[in-house]
Amino acid sequence: MSWSTIREIRVNPIIPAESVLIATARADRPAESETQWQLDQRSMVPACPFCPGNEHQTPPPILQRPEHGPWSIRSVRNLYPVFGDERSLPELRLGMHRIIDGYGHHEVIIDHPNHGIQIAEMGRDHLELLFTVYQQRMVDLYRVPGKHRYVLVFKNFGPASGGSIAHTHSQIIAMPVIPANVDMELAASRSHLRATGNCIFCALIDEDLRYDATLFDRQTGEQRRSIAVSDYVIEANDSCVAIKPFASRYPWEIHVLPRRHDHDYRNSSPVEIGDLAQVVQRVMQRLAAVLGVVQYNFFLHSAPGHEGGHWARSFHWHLEICPRTAVPNGFELGSGLAINTLSPEQAAATLRAITLRPEP
Ligand SMILES: [Zn+2]
Ligand SMILES: [Zn+2]
Ligand SMILES: [Zn+2]
Repeated sequence: MSWSTIREIRVNPIIPAESVLIATARADRPAESETQWQLDQRSMVPACPFCPGNEHQTPPPILQRPEHGPWSIRSVRNLYPVFGDERSLPELRLGMHRIIDGYGHHEVIIDHPNHGIQIAEMGRDHLELLFTVYQQRMVDLYRVPGKHRYVLVFKNFGPASGGSIAHTHSQIIAMPVIPANVDMELAASRSHLRATGNCIFCALIDEDLRYDATLFDRQTGEQRRSIAVSDYVIEANDSCVAIKPFASRYPWEIHVLPRRHDHDYRNSSPVEIGDLAQVVQRVMQRLAAVLGVVQYNFFLHSAPGHEGGHWARSFHWHLEICPRTAVPNGFELGSGLAINTLSPEQAAATLRAITLRPEP
């Protein structure tokens, strides 16, 4: 299939204030070397504090699975936390300036004993355990007295993602404010619910699974655009779908959502977490087949734990997977308008065309 050049601004349906310039001609520019990176594929690195045998180099585990014997997942306090565990200052106002104490909690989840393993290569059971550990730690952290307002689970992989330690790991940050990205999603999905009576995430899933449309040019009658059912669906199973967003900020960005409406990841059942692990793994395998080593961030967006009732009908938890293939430029940072040089339709078609090895 050939893909025509696109230059258009697409409005993010969830956060209308956020739009993306899809400009595919820009992909012909010389490749950026910043995002080239050699993966360290060693399974054990003697100097790595996260490798088995070096457990004494990290703080004692907050959680370890299994609890005894050789571990497969470990969670420890971050030695360089962005938020500290000690509460000190009350909120301060200095004229126009306002200070909120940087109270919170920052921990590292060592995803796997194998230093250089990628998610695409992990066993399905292991990945399921990892997503269960995320859930467990969210439950635990929202129970801490002092009320963390938000618990954010995320992962950096590779230097282009901001990752500083090569050993595969995820992070959890409990913080005293609701992150701006989540806040915007909460507000926008809330107004969608008010206007339509529906959850916008459910509506988008539904549309991606069922919507078929062709637009024709009024003058010439020529076909201008056509969208077919499932064009944007990368993976799907009984409980989860992976979708290529129509207004993707990053060329290979993919969102994974549960089919069952729920605002809070903590409510996911073991079956749903198993299905999530399957979808994420297959998505990562597709990305690896197309991109080779994938540097990425993923973020788990769930409703704020103590305000659940407020967002229960409008918000829908999801995982955003954002591969890092380019460094944002001044225009993007200064304008807030992301430039994506690959059409989301072409990216979706490329990912869907990959044949994955049958599962054992
Ligand atoms: Zn290591
Ligand atoms: Zn929903
Ligand atoms: Zn989100």
